[in-house]
Amino acid sequence: MTITGKTKLLGVIGYPVEHSLSPVMHNAAIAQMGLDCAYLPFPIKPEDLAIALAGFAAVGVMGFSVTIPHKQAIMPLLSEISDLAQAVGAVNTVWRKGETWCGTNTDVLGFIAPLKGITEDWQGKKAIILGNGGAARAVVTGCAQLGFSQITVAGRNAEKLKNFQESWQNSPFGQNLSVQTWENLPQLLPDADLVVNSTPMGMFPHGDASPLEIAEIQRMKSGSIAYDLIYTPRPTKFLQLAESQGMLAIDGVEMLVQQGAVALELWTGRSVPVDTMREALLQQLAAKH
Ligand code: NAP
Repeated sequence: MTITGKTKLLGVIGYPVEHSLSPVMHNAAIAQMGLDCAYLPFPIKPEDLAIALAGFAAVGVMGFSVTIPHKQAIMPLLSEISDLAQAVGAVNTVWRKGETWCGTNTDVLGFIAPLKGITEDWQGKKAIILGNGGAARAVVTGCAQLGFSQITVAGRNAEKLKNFQESWQNSPFGQNLSVQTWENLPQLLPDADLVVNSTPMGMFPHGDASPLEIAEIQRMKSGSIAYDLIYTPRPTKFLQLAESQGMLAIDGVEMLVQQGAVALELWTGRSVPVDTMREALLQQLAAKH
């Protein structure tokens, strides 16, 4: 990549951000597209968020991705937030419009992309989402958009589950949502068409952990889908167990690739080489682990 006097800046803000795979993925696409842009990691402490945004405006940053811990904190600093990001309650993509910053959430499109590749018809299907954190919010929105008739979020903390449910009360995406504590999963699993792991259980370096044990997975319908948002290791223990029971397995790589592709398209107004992004990401994952 040649940095010129006209090179425009994109990037990702987070704290820490060193582990982010986004720079490799985005810069591969930028090179392929022949753009005079660079995508950099910006480690920004929570207390420096507002000043960083002012600095980005001053130096003409085109846009940036947002990761932990800024996904909610950035919302009051933006002039416009898409309905989707409002529904999710988090922004992961910001762009410059005139003198203002606008935000949206591309995790939802990233999450549903591999499901759309299986079928377009999710009406009447039942989803169980394990975990009630930030990613679970994008998953609930995605399942609601696809038309699932039952969306059940299972968590280990009854108080947090209650707050989670209440936060969807006025949302069009919360209509088919209910919450259950983890102990009730065995009764719910046999009916599920999709189970999504949105907990970090099984993530590197804890690759021998799984959110569900084999006995629980055996209760599920063969042909149903196990979707793990984790992208390292590949496959996770959860997906290995699910595949051994005849379930269809989806890992978190495609979500990561697709949410990035939607963001890059938004910043550049150009169609994006998704295969290049996927390849760069997979190479980086293979080199790391
Ligand atoms: P988060 O906000 O910290 O939420 C994690 C959730 O998992 C919480 O509800 C937490 O429960 C639950 N949990 C953690 N350990 C648990 C355990 N031992 N037993 C039961 N529940 C447990 O994290 P997040 O941002 O939602 O991310 C979750 C996972 O998704 C991570 O692995 C992340 O890497 C992955 N992710 C992937 C993508 C992608 O593009 N592929 C995007 C976003 C996230 P409590 O609420 O009770 O603490």
